Amino acid sequence: QVLCVGHASYDLVFSVPHHPEADEKIFADSLISCGGGPAANAAVTVARLGYKAAFAGYLGNDTYGQIHFEELQRENVSTDLVARGTMPTPLSVILIKPDGKRALVNYKGATEPLPANSIDFSNVSPKVILFDGHEPLLSEPLCAWAKSKAIPTVLDAGSLHKGTDALMFSVDFLVCSEKFARQWLNADDSERALNLLAERSPAVVVTLGERGLIWRKGAESGRVPAFPVKAVDTTGAGDAFHGAFAAALASGQDWLDILRYASAVGALCCTKAGARPGIPFRETVELFLKN
Ligand code: ADP
Repeated sequence: QVLCVGHASYDLVFSVPHHPEADEKIFADSLISCGGGPAANAAVTVARLGYKAAFAGYLGNDTYGQIHFEELQRENVSTDLVARGTMPTPLSVILIKPDGKRALVNYKGATEPLPANSIDFSNVSPKVILFDGHEPLLSEPLCAWAKSKAIPTVLDAGSLHKGTDALMFSVDFLVCSEKFARQWLNADDSERALNLLAERSPAVVVTLGERGLIWRKGAESGRVPAFPVKAVDTTGAGDAFHGAFAAALASGQDWLDILRYASAVGALCCTKAGARPGIPFRETVELFLKN
């Protein structure tokens, strides 16, 4: 089982002709509404790829929380470790223009990070744990526990939260997008970002969108090009990549195969609008990799 720990939200993705000005009323061409959040999307990816998946994080007892909870169950993601409560489910409104540029509004309300002991992990025995950095209070002790049990841990360092930095030093695999690495580390190129991240973790991957990725693992390093696809919407490519990376790691694939597999899943995710609709199923990935 791959356990994905972190953020779950509900996404309303509108395709719009342009982003509205103040006082302007516009009409959307289409609406995709579905569950979102990096760790929840990664868990759905793991399940669609045919592996056992669990999500640990928060969903409110409100309408959006309930819809997302049921969506996860329909996707065969275990919801045993989902904390429910009266705080609102985080909501994102995303406006996508025809050129793919996005405007985003995130609503978190006063929803606080889950406290350290709010979820009981004593009955789980995951093969790999993936953190998205959003639940630092929960993640840190879980990461320490994983270390004591020799369970491999992965951090998707996609956004900066209190505690994310500490996790960077304790996970076995650190995966980071170039945009975030540059912004957060102030590194002016991705190689420099890779070097700085390598000071924090024994195995580091920096994803470069349509340019693929660069990696360093111990004394070895390399580059994996992206699979050429007709990208419609790159939302969720990173989440799908992280889910596939963790699943491939759990199934014992070799390092370069893990990177190639995750790249294929990330690329396929870009071929459909919206994060969740783009996450491919196992058969699609296998066929894609054969051709
Ligand atoms: P994030 O979504 O976290 O910003 P990236 O955009 O770097 O992450 O994407 C993660 C991975 O998904 C890339 O390393 C690449 O393998 C794949 N990917 C992303 N965008 C494309 C694209 N336009 N074409 C092909 N593959 C892509």
